[in-house]
Amino acid sequence: MGFLDRKSLFKVEAMLVKIQRGTLEFALNVSREMHPKEFIGKLRIIGDLITEVIIEPDLMFRYNYASVFFHMNPIDTTLKGCIHSHPDGSLKPTVEDLTRFFFGKANVIIAYPYNLSTVACYKSSGEPIKLKII
Ligand SMILES: [Zn+2]
Repeated sequence: MGFLDRKSLFKVEAMLVKIQRGTLEFALNVSREMHPKEFIGKLRIIGDLITEVIIEPDLMFRYNYASVFFHMNPIDTTLKGCIHSHPDGSLKPTVEDLTRFFFGKANVIIAYPYNLSTVACYKSSGEPIKLKII
């Protein structure tokens, strides 16, 4: 197995994360309810599957801005990402997303009008990842 092994190259290109339809629909509903405020939550990811969207009582909601206090978390190694809404309709991560919110394996943005075609997923670096709805 050499450095440029085809199999390992394919693995990198095929990076994707899966989400259960019900989990995504929950997040879409919360985004609609919060609009025009921003909603933010954390993602429980097991393997390559997003199993849960976690909304904690220490979240702050403000007009067009949401903040999470990560330092208040107990240690939970399955919390590997973040999900938040963009009431302005943009699916692109902002500088603030990249510097403050994005972490771990996958970060989901749900843009207005909050349906299955206005969802995007990124690595913590801001690089897009395929999000497969199962
Ligand atoms: Zn954002």
